[in-house]
Amino acid sequence: MSEHNPPATWGPPTAVMVAEAQSLLGSLRRSGLTSGVIGRPGNGFGIDQLTDLVLDGQEVTARLPDPAVLLQAARLLGVHPARTAVVHCAPAGVQAACRGGFGLVVGIAYGGAWAAAELRAHGAEPVLRGLAYVTVDEQAMRRRWWQPASTAGAEHAGWLLDYTGVDLATEGIRETLCTIGNGYLATRGAAPEADAGRSHYPGTYAAAIFNRLRTRLHEHVHEDESLVNLPNWLTLRWRRPGERWVRPDARGVSEHRQTLDLRAGVLHRRYRHVDGSGRATTMVSRMLVSMATPHLSALETTLVPENWSGTLQVRSGIDGRVANRQVAEYGPLAGRHLRPDGQGRDGDDGLWLRVSTTQSRVEVATAVRTRLFQAGVRVDAQRRVDMLPGRPQETWTVAVRAGQPLRVEKIAAHHTSQDRAVTEPAAASRDAAARAGSFAELLGEQVRAWRRLWERSHIELHTDHPWPSLELNLHTFHLLVATSPNVTDLDAGVGARGLHGEGYRGHVFWDEVFVHRVLALHLPEASRALLLYRWRRLDAARRAAAAIGCRGAMFPWQSGSDGREETPRELFNTRTGRWMRDRSARQRHVGLAVAYSVWQYHQATGDLDFLRTHGGELILETARFFADLARRNPRTGRYEITGVMGPDEFHDGYPDREAPGLDNNAYTNVMTVWLLRQALAVVDLLACRDGTSLPDRLGIDDGELARWAEITTRMYVPWHDDRIISQFDGYADLAELDLDAYRRRYGNIGRLDLILAAEGDSPNRYRIGKQADVLMLLYLLSAEELRELLAGLGYHWPPEALPRTAGFYLHRASHGSTLSRVVHAWVQARTNRTASFGNFTDALAADIRDTQGGTTREGIHLGAMAGTLDLAERCYLGIETRQDALWFNPRLPHEITRLHTLITYRGHQLHVTATGSALALIASPCNAAPVTVHVARQPPQTIGGGQQVSISLTG
Ligand code: BGC
Repeated sequence: MSEHNPPATWGPPTAVMVAEAQSLLGSLRRSGLTSGVIGRPGNGFGIDQLTDLVLDGQEVTARLPDPAVLLQAARLLGVHPARTAVVHCAPAGVQAACRGGFGLVVGIAYGGAWAAAELRAHGAEPVLRGLAYVTVDEQAMRRRWWQPASTAGAEHAGWLLDYTGVDLATEGIRETLCTIGNGYLATRGAAPEADAGRSHYPGTYAAAIFNRLRTRLHEHVHEDESLVNLPNWLTLRWRRPGERWVRPDARGVSEHRQTLDLRAGVLHRRYRHVDGSGRATTMVSRMLVSMATPHLSALETTLVPENWSGTLQVRSGIDGRVANRQVAEYGPLAGRHLRPDGQGRDGDDGLWLRVSTTQSRVEVATAVRTRLFQAGVRVDAQRRVDMLPGRPQETWTVAVRAGQPLRVEKIAAHHTSQDRAVTEPAAASRDAAARAGSFAELLGEQVRAWRRLWERSHIELHTDHPWPSLELNLHTFHLLVATSPNVTDLDAGVGARGLHGEGYRGHVFWDEVFVHRVLALHLPEASRALLLYRWRRLDAARRAAAAIGCRGAMFPWQSGSDGREETPRELFNTRTGRWMRDRSARQRHVGLAVAYSVWQYHQATGDLDFLRTHGGELILETARFFADLARRNPRTGRYEITGVMGPDEFHDGYPDREAPGLDNNAYTNVMTVWLLRQALAVVDLLACRDGTSLPDRLGIDDGELARWAEITTRMYVPWHDDRIISQFDGYADLAELDLDAYRRRYGNIGRLDLILAAEGDSPNRYRIGKQADVLMLLYLLSAEELRELLAGLGYHWPPEALPRTAGFYLHRASHGSTLSRVVHAWVQARTNRTASFGNFTDALAADIRDTQGGTTREGIHLGAMAGTLDLAERCYLGIETRQDALWFNPRLPHEITRLHTLITYRGHQLHVTATGSALALIASPCNAAPVTVHVARQPPQTIGGGQQVSISLTG
């Protein structure tokens, strides 16, 4: 907003404005169109006689931009927001209309050009000079159903993920990206009319509901645990009796549009269907998974027979015959995890289904309540219920008239036997579905709940060019869908593919290291809860460590329900159609990610209690394991870790060695030193706070602590010439591979491992990488920290060796993991800002453009999504949380003119805004103790609630 803007207060309406309003209302009334007025101007000016509804009072307008008032008005008028035009002269009113999903949002710019720009920026389109410029085309108004607001305003464009038409080839990607959820449960953005098949894949997943299945295949028994695809609550179809059920991809369907409103977590869909006899029907739907009441979800479908009257049939149901069938590679393996366990009907509008998982015996209940309305009144339609096994459904037959919408509300409730405070899941769901509010009420709660979350999580990025802020918002959105504060009461981990699909079977990997860095600064309560998932699996990790002769805790590379190793031993090569050995479980470094995440959480929150009760144990037990893994080489006197894999999955062993794993992966060795140092710091930190010392409780004696300290000075790190850190012992001796030649031949070489295997070759022979490995060190540690840590080991790593190390690896990566671009963007941020921005935008494109070639349909890449947010904050804003202080070292790419975020740090809410030349911090008023802040190379300062700090970065 420029300084020349007049204050945002609005004087009383002038006589001209009143006359224009009267004239517009009069023409709406003459056309027979419904209208309403919010906020009565002055003495009323006789508008009551011209309109159907007047919502009075100061407080009504004072509540804007909350859309609740507008939604209430629509409800009272019996009109659907998507069919309603809102005309407003204030940015707050325009914003409310956009948030409420109103069809057309017209701005009236009484204040001239500046006001017009403001209104447009808040989402108004069109913006007119006065009400006199609004013309009413009655026919168009009757037929027109808009998408939620327009995409014209710059602010607006970043909030709507919009697809027009139907494209079966990319439908799976759309479904993943349009997934809506709340941390407890998520539903893919599939059409309610669709069954699972080659293109469509409706899927609903609840956090931490896993099941194991066995398959005998080629003499092997495969046992896999998967996040279970739960009964499809969405199912809703419609047709004229005797005709086919209409599907969005059927003949006769046009104008299909699907829009995910990221601000509100609502998926809108619409299309128009014309049958063989020219009968046109418009379908508009809205769908949400409630962020406010995590056990509820809702679908509202409005059908408008445009030019015909007659009978419509609507079928609603719950489909429990689903299986995990999304991932082609798992095709030969068993996928049916559910067994029907009870179903029934409730009153004149309810159905329910209970299933249980075949092995883990989790009961999952879904209850739906379906009601039909015409002109705002519930319709007494004919209902037929069919209790098909595992698939209760009801078919409603109802008379419809041309132009009169039929609105179908389907509210679903979901409970499982893992929920707390329920007696039995089906009873809980049936009760919740019966008691739930209307769709409009759930929508109002949804908008408010999401607004609160956005206030804590929105990262605003401004550029000189049209900026794809949509991607950044989309990534925040899906991070919230997968890890919202609703996880706080669950035993859920950070699934690598979110709750969005069946890729990697819903397993938990090291990707959480990218996620916790963001959560710790925005939703620390969620971060804490997700770390507890690891804490509860410490015993399993202790057993795994003991099995290889170590003390402490060894977390599995892939984790599911009980914390055992879930990595399959074989991987299906889609290029050769053959199974290959999968040795990725040698990635012991996952434990380092867990400990690192605990420390990030601690630094951001200062939550000593968590450290004392859970976090400290996680850090100490993983430290203990890595210390035991390190063995002293008597020849050199240095400690070494052998037989492991680093993050780069292209290298799982030596070409000439049968035994799996590599020796002295630099990332693992260096991070082990980092971990042991933190572990010793934790021992000190907690020593004076608790009578029973943590090492005592865990049986860690002084001798063991002394050994940890020794490793922090005597760990071995491999090097190439020129002080380039080597990925592992022997990497320098590998052959070079011409990656460009492979790119020319194969296009996407992300999975070069599969390509080489198909050629009878192996990536183990080459100096290439699937993803960042050594460079991960620079992502997790600042250059100063890394240099200091290496110096502590007796290795001199001069500043000029950093770009050499980076340069060596940067062009050897195939980026077969979406995480890779994030790390590369990070490493280049201080050396090649343009290249960094390029990798940043590539990382932002990973899912929206499915750059891995087919993986997005199986779920989002949560680590990479969080990684892009982390890049904006910790890299470009240069935020670090260490030594009990907050550090800022902004370095915006040239393309970014302004970056803003609101972080939570040690009880404070801090607005951070950086431009190329200045940094401003504003702490919201609060009573938390002031915190220490270091900006760039300036002396430290303290900032308390309600205070501000502005620093020039050019001096
Ligand atoms: C990457 C791993 C990652 C996993 C799950 C793999 O492709 O190489 O680093 O943990 O995907 O996202």
